[in-house]
Amino acid sequence: MRSIVERLADGIVIVDATGVIRFANPAAEQLFGRNRDQLVGSQLGFPVVVGESTEVEVVHPGHGAITAELRVVDVEWAGAPALLVSLRDITHRKRAAERERQLERERAARAEAEASSQAKSEFLAMMSHELRTPLNAVIGYAELLDLGVAGALTNEQRHQLSRIRTSGRHLLGLVNEVLDLAKIEAGRLSVSIGVARTREAADAALSLVQTHADEKGIRFAANCLGDGDAFYVGDEDRVRQILINLLSNAVKFTERGGQVALECGTTNEPDVEARLPECPKWVYFQVRDTGIGIPPEHLPVIFDPFVQVETGHTRSTDGSGLGLTISRRLARLMGGDLSVRSAVGAGSVFTLWLPAATAQPTAEGSERIERKVDAPQVRGLSEVGELVLHEIETILEGLTLRIRGDDRIPKAKTLRFSQLVDHVPTYLANLGGMLIAIEDTGGQPSSLLTDGADIQRLVAERHGAQRARLGWSEEAVRQEYRLLGEELTRVIRRHARAVSQAAVDEGLTILMRALEQGEESSIRGLQRMRLAENDEAARVPPNSSIAALDASVSPRG
Ligand code: ADP
Repeated sequence: MRSIVERLADGIVIVDATGVIRFANPAAEQLFGRNRDQLVGSQLGFPVVVGESTEVEVVHPGHGAITAELRVVDVEWAGAPALLVSLRDITHRKRAAERERQLERERAARAEAEASSQAKSEFLAMMSHELRTPLNAVIGYAELLDLGVAGALTNEQRHQLSRIRTSGRHLLGLVNEVLDLAKIEAGRLSVSIGVARTREAADAALSLVQTHADEKGIRFAANCLGDGDAFYVGDEDRVRQILINLLSNAVKFTERGGQVALECGTTNEPDVEARLPECPKWVYFQVRDTGIGIPPEHLPVIFDPFVQVETGHTRSTDGSGLGLTISRRLARLMGGDLSVRSAVGAGSVFTLWLPAATAQPTAEGSERIERKVDAPQVRGLSEVGELVLHEIETILEGLTLRIRGDDRIPKAKTLRFSQLVDHVPTYLANLGGMLIAIEDTGGQPSSLLTDGADIQRLVAERHGAQRARLGWSEEAVRQEYRLLGEELTRVIRRHARAVSQAAVDEGLTILMRALEQGEESSIRGLQRMRLAENDEAARVPPNSSIAALDASVSPRG
């Protein structure tokens, strides 16, 4: 009997009537972490009740707390009544059960978070449509009135319309930024990861901000300094978006006579302010200004949403306080960061950090590689339409850059951004709305579509007339449409990569057809303007009724 007890896997101790241990087997020695001599003669240390099975915590000198399951039976020991206590180590079982409960709690929390993120995403998709559509309509109608479709305007009316348009554009910018931020937070903003050369995005951003800097009398280097040939891993459109934001801020917060510059390069020792993962080499884009600077107590918060540092004389009314927030989140989505150093009165240095590319891109320029952080879900035409609405600014930036660099379009280099884009945003908003309407109506002819086509024709004609006033040739206008088609295709393909190819292809086919018609309308507008140049009376716009166009600027009426 004794040899059986000695070999048992359960700990066995025999305790006399006074609670003193009289016997302990090797398993009990192990469980308590004490040898037999230490155990025998000492107090068991916890109460035991015959017949009951309980759990106790035993403190083991080497292994910490051990949970043991206890069973107690009456026995006789050396002729006196005693208790036999068997102890089974159930620590692993307990831990496994606790882990299981923890996992279950985490599963429930995750399911709850996913449900709420799904609800948030749906809300966002709805809001982006509900907010942007009427706003585009407000701006679109203001532009139509400005075009004279409802009759000639007085100077006062023109001035008031321009204020509606400016405020509308400002509000649209704000709505887009709020939606961008919300999309990032819901994990729905797309960032595609490719390999690109620093110079491309840097020079593109510089050229877009240059005019503004010149107007303010700021010394502004037109090309990026440092190493323009470094390659980074990231999304070229987003990098340009961040740099435009940083450069615009630099110009905004720098006084006349100050200096703004952008420098690129690589380093294996990034600034300590940047929160970066492990990476052997980093590419940096550094925007420096000699502006007002940021007080040290405000530095930690400028990346928070809606923060604008109040600095008395410099507080400008434009801006949302979201640019830096979005820029930093985009930088982090691409695996990098955005950091800042600044001194009041001396200026600020904002640095965008991105992982350096180990391989160079193909001849195509920016090579797409497999990683993709959450693409917007384009399921049908209307999603392609939404994409057009959402990416209008990206398309415009790409378009204006290409127009400025195109020899077939003379006199474009000196034009301001607003002169260059002219009515293109309204036109694009209408194209996006058209795709949504086509899906809504199942492609059936509808007044919505006819009205939309009317507006596109009108806007395109006026666009042609404006180009004639700028002295453009027919060839230049045709080239502009070619570039617009290419940019539209590029942006849609780029931002809708993980979605139904068929919908994208179909959407693009419809858009290209619309562009062909637009091109012809613009050419007509350009020719008419030429003919009318000597005839002031011919400048009076066609007397179409704006009421007939009601509900057509808004894609869903
Ligand atoms: P905003 O739309 O107001 O420019 P941002 O998020 O881009 O929003 O910037 C937040 C705030 O950070 C700005 O309002 C300004 O107070 C401060 N800031 C940003 N860039 C600079 C800069 N280059 N110089 C001085 N202050 C800056």
